[in-house]
Amino acid sequence: MAIVDAAVVGGGAAGLAAAYELHKHGASFALLDAASRLGGVIRTERVDGFTLDAGPDSLLVQKPAAIQLCEELGLGQQLMPTLEPRTAYVLRDRLLPIPQGSVLGIPTTIAPWVTSRLLSPAAKVRMAAEVFIPRGDATQESVGAFFRRRFGREVVECVAEPLLAGIHAGDVDRLSMRSLFPRLVEAEQTHGSVIRALRAARATAPRPTDGLFRSLPGGIEQLVTTLVATLPESAILRGTRALDLSGPSPYTVRVANGPPVSARAVILATPAYTTAGLVRGLDDRLATLCAEINYRSTATVLLAYPRAAVHRPMRGSGFVVPRIQRSVPLMAGSWVTSKWAGRAPEGHVLLRAFMGGARDPDLLSRPDDELIDLAHTTFAALLEIDRRPDLTRVYRWDRASAQHDVGHIERVAAIEARLSQLPGLFVTGAGFRGVGIPDCVADGRATARAVVAWQRAQPSPTTPRVS
Ligand SMILES: Cc1cc2nc3c(=O)[nH]c(=O)nc-3n(C[C@H](O)[C@H](O)[C@H](O)COP(=O)(O)OP(=O)(O)OC[C@H]3O[C@@H](n4cnc5c(N)ncnc54)[C@H](O)[C@@H]3O)c2cc1C
Repeated sequence: MAIVDAAVVGGGAAGLAAAYELHKHGASFALLDAASRLGGVIRTERVDGFTLDAGPDSLLVQKPAAIQLCEELGLGQQLMPTLEPRTAYVLRDRLLPIPQGSVLGIPTTIAPWVTSRLLSPAAKVRMAAEVFIPRGDATQESVGAFFRRRFGREVVECVAEPLLAGIHAGDVDRLSMRSLFPRLVEAEQTHGSVIRALRAARATAPRPTDGLFRSLPGGIEQLVTTLVATLPESAILRGTRALDLSGPSPYTVRVANGPPVSARAVILATPAYTTAGLVRGLDDRLATLCAEINYRSTATVLLAYPRAAVHRPMRGSGFVVPRIQRSVPLMAGSWVTSKWAGRAPEGHVLLRAFMGGARDPDLLSRPDDELIDLAHTTFAALLEIDRRPDLTRVYRWDRASAQHDVGHIERVAAIEARLSQLPGLFVTGAGFRGVGIPDCVADGRATARAVVAWQRAQPSPTTPRVS
């Protein structure tokens, strides 16, 4: 292959967004992915009329980059909100609804919390007293420490841990508040109280009436297939594992099963531990910094039943499980068919369990049958299901959830400093500046724009080289 403007290594959300943006700017590129399919952890399977989201299942509206990309790709009209009622529950011996009007489990109105059984009376008083807690310094605080300081211990155990650490499959006492929830940190600084800040924000920008999440009729992978269809097929190298890089620019990316790829710039959109291996030969310190970024493993288990076998109503989207609820082996459960339209044939329900993570890494060493049993037993007890599932799937996500632990911002700054000494080399993806599809899309696109700007700033074109 002739030398290209940019090689993008990794075709998950971040790498795909980068390739899309490069293409939009007319830059030549090669997109390499080790897997035979693109999308990384974004994967949707269609089986017997069921639409099974194996990894991510929703796009957050408040971070608009993914929604905007869907609109650019002509998918805007197909974006679908979650079904009503949008209630989410916390499982504390029984399912307790998260009171209405809460943002990330934080109250913006007190009334629904007064009658809620989610917290003890003393914990409710402590939570409401947040407005009187003086400003603190969240610079080096974990999510747990921040919430404990502002809202009290029980809010951490029953709300922050299952909701906020749960999304990341992480440890509430290790995840960085500033890295993951910078708006709440800012809220404390600007208003002196998170509750007051959220209330003020709500008054000026009311919450969307059709919920906070969107999906697509074909599952989240529809975003991937639609995006890939806009790229030149000849630029996509599936089943192409990058082994290492040599440079300086133009860089050579050596791959496992083909000729090396030569590129003036390289965007590494791989998990940070893979990025570490790829850059080791260029900069040992950079590799070490990347390797320090921690990842967690999870599994999703999908189960389908005839609707008639489920004897309790599934109102709302599903539930999260606090770590203190030790008898339940799930981090969360979704009632997929109550959350999204069109995910199962008429007369069937689809349920999804989320397992493993920081809370229970050893669980994942169990065989698929046992994970299915654990998920089935949990759902059967909650929903009075009187038979085994008709359809089961287990999807394992080994080291797929990046952990932005306390110190992450400083580590990424150190990575950027090393990269500034390697002109034309860029990193993106969930391990670095933002987790989740919207942040990966935003960062992938921004990284591609940085590549284009860097190339335009070069004094003279690099001598072309043919590999
Ligand atoms: C189970 C689960 C549920 C989630 N739910 C949601 C959700 O509902 N909403 C949301 O917004 N986010 C969700 N997330 C998070 C979100 O999916 C990720 O943050 C995001 O998709 C990560 O994208 P990425 O491009 O950084 O990495 P990845 O998707 O991990 O992609 C990395 C790519 O690099 C490739 N690769 C690896 N090594 C090499 C190599 N040596 N050479 C070439 N290619 C290589 C891989 O094959 C892969 O395609 C979820 C994550 C998981 C695991």
